[in-house]
Amino acid sequence: MQTSLPKHDVVLLGVGHTNAHVLRMWKMQPPADAQLTCVSNFPRVTYSGMMPGVLAGDYPVERMQIDLVRSCAAAGARLILAEANGLDLKARKLHFADRPPIDFDVLSVGIGSMPTMAGLEFDQTLVTIKPMQTFLTRLEQRVRETRQRDPDRPCRVAVVGGGVAGLEITLCLPRRLRQWLGDHPFEQLLVTGTRPLGNGLLAKTQRCIRNELAERQVRVLEGERVVRVGAGQVETNAGTVEDVDLVIWATSAVAPPLLGKLGLPTDDKGFLLTRPTLQSVADVPVFAVGDSGTIENSETAKAGVFAVRQGRFLWENIQRTLRQERLQEYHPQRDFLKLLNLGDGRAVAEYKGGSVAGRWPWLLKDQIDRRFMDKYQDYSPMEMAAVEAGATSQMRCAGCGGKVGGSVLSRVLARLDIPDHEHVLLGLDQPDDAAIVQPPGGRPLTVTADFFAAPLDDPYLSGRLAALNSASDLFACGAKPLAALALATIPVGKPRQQEELLYQLLSGSLDEFRRMGATLIGGHTIEGPQQTIGFAMLADQGDVAEARTKAKLTAGDQLVLTKPLGSGVLLAAQMQALCPAEDMTVLLETMLLSNEAAAALSNEFAIRAMTDVTGFGLAGHLLEMLKASDCGARLQLDAMPLLPGVESIMTTHGIESTLAPANRAAEGAVRIAEARRAHPAYPVLFDPQTSGGMLLAVPGQHVDAVLARLADQSAVPAAVIGEVTARPEFEPIVIA
Ligand SMILES: Cc1cc2nc3c(=O)[nH]c(=O)nc-3n(C[C@H](O)[C@H](O)[C@H](O)COP(=O)(O)OP(=O)(O)OC[C@H]3O[C@@H](n4cnc5c(N)ncnc54)[C@H](O)[C@@H]3O)c2cc1C
Repeated sequence: MQTSLPKHDVVLLGVGHTNAHVLRMWKMQPPADAQLTCVSNFPRVTYSGMMPGVLAGDYPVERMQIDLVRSCAAAGARLILAEANGLDLKARKLHFADRPPIDFDVLSVGIGSMPTMAGLEFDQTLVTIKPMQTFLTRLEQRVRETRQRDPDRPCRVAVVGGGVAGLEITLCLPRRLRQWLGDHPFEQLLVTGTRPLGNGLLAKTQRCIRNELAERQVRVLEGERVVRVGAGQVETNAGTVEDVDLVIWATSAVAPPLLGKLGLPTDDKGFLLTRPTLQSVADVPVFAVGDSGTIENSETAKAGVFAVRQGRFLWENIQRTLRQERLQEYHPQRDFLKLLNLGDGRAVAEYKGGSVAGRWPWLLKDQIDRRFMDKYQDYSPMEMAAVEAGATSQMRCAGCGGKVGGSVLSRVLARLDIPDHEHVLLGLDQPDDAAIVQPPGGRPLTVTADFFAAPLDDPYLSGRLAALNSASDLFACGAKPLAALALATIPVGKPRQQEELLYQLLSGSLDEFRRMGATLIGGHTIEGPQQTIGFAMLADQGDVAEARTKAKLTAGDQLVLTKPLGSGVLLAAQMQALCPAEDMTVLLETMLLSNEAAAALSNEFAIRAMTDVTGFGLAGHLLEMLKASDCGARLQLDAMPLLPGVESIMTTHGIESTLAPANRAAEGAVRIAEARRAHPAYPVLFDPQTSGGMLLAVPGQHVDAVLARLADQSAVPAAVIGEVTARPEFEPIVIA
């Protein structure tokens, strides 16, 4: 838990080979009083050295990937998944297209390079090697489309680029094509603009590769630059035209356009120019590393080995910058071991004038690559020893998982003597998602308050969630949000840090308020040990008789849940760096889906009762409805939608939210066969949801139409999870 704000902001833009080292070291030795933010355009990053091996089937795809969601969680770093689009060097801010800028005291730019495509005309025949994260998926899709389109013709694949990357891909591709195409024949072409093939490699290595290509019947076009890829053809500057089905583009590295927008000095190819310290020659606290940087007066090639070597210099120099000490210089090695995967369990090794091909160079490469990735795929947080010793119980869940248990609240309310009030139309005598008051002579207003300990490291996203979560109570009553008052706790820190944190939180909230047609009208902010954010909100209720309340269930209504369950489990897993990137991505999409559109369906489809599923879990919130309506419900466990990853995280790691035990008080109201308790969805009924979905009581005749409309609104899966029944004699919730 962050009890005070750190003084310094270190930001890594792109988490490639060099910046990844800083993230790893941060976990082991976090600098005092500094916060690390990683900005990436993908939640996973790829180790290119293993890409050819993955193509050849030597490794599964996951082996070449670093899960940034888990790495950042393990290191206590913030992860921002967004596209940066500029820098304000004076104000030290990194700008984005679709979210507010973030501050930095030290920035390291490592967004790599991209294959040159200058002057190239192309269409969808082209499959570029970057972004590498999606390369295999795009390639497979293209190969399968080709096969379907022309089942009687060999699949013709060209690789353009005769550097090490292009050669390895060409050699490793056949095994992958065999896997995708089965017996279907394929033909390979390699086009390289330079001559000889393997320019820069030793003549012996070049000969070896030429022989390997010939053995695999790969045709080679040398010294011809491709100028057009389209309509099933590649055309070169020499006028050669070849028929192809797809073209893999792996040409030499050029600077990504973003580097040119940063306002920093560049070399003649657009890469950021640095001193040997890796710091920009502009003498600002910005480093440029890996392929993105060029050290002045140095001829270093753009290769992963240099990017990796730079890691420890960058780490040292970031710390020295924070301590205002002199920086260390990095001097690239003249020669380095080159290992090219030949795609059949052999490799060719080249070092200091010698070249040898065979099995042992492959084994050496395999060992180097595996060791490298082992270091980056260790996602255990540093405190793991403490966690294993039982400290987990002290890590209270954030979001709606940080709520006080429902039974505590109801006992307190029972002890209070709350007076009635003539202007309160819906209050605690009939507790609902929100209260409705009617000021003298005025229209009915719906009011609610909701706040939580920020569940995400990214304050902008936490702000969005807080706004959605607060407004959800209003949507559940069928009201239209008008205004919000912020309730925020900010840890102690320097005014600049406090300002920035509050700005990020409120910017996110405001973006959501704008979308729902409401605005911020005030609030109260205090200092405290834990960051919290939430809102008291006001909404126009319109006709009170039309308010959707928990008390309006009718036997026979079908219960439709608009979002899958399990956010409490996943957020608890994330606190222990156990939530994989893909599951986190789906969780974020789900939580950031506003309930406004789903709730609005109540107007069209005669839905009179609904609630939003939040901290007390599905069972707790359903029970509130059943009590208020004097009904029962029959739930179908098999129909219960769960977020991806929830089941495996619960079974593998036994993780649940800290609020789940309190929520299980609702089990007393549940009738279920003993054997059904082992169903994976059963414990999730008590999982607290942060920005959970709506539970709609839909008249049977409208269910299909409601489901169809929900499917049109978003890709988040909704489901019919049961039905409302007459009040049973014993437990109100019966689970089948
Ligand atoms: C198939 C292939 C095989 C290779 N094999 C080898 C090898 O065996 N040995 C070797 O030395 N070199 C190899 N290379 C070259 C090597 O990949 C690069 O030199 C190396 O990746 C450079 O590392 P980097 O950290 O600069 O960039 P990268 O590893 O490319 O990392 C940059 C990261 O920044 C992210 N990013 C990009 N744009 C943005 C943005 N706008 N905002 C946020 N994040 C962004 C990317 O998603 C990526 O994760 C190979 C290249 C290829 C294509």
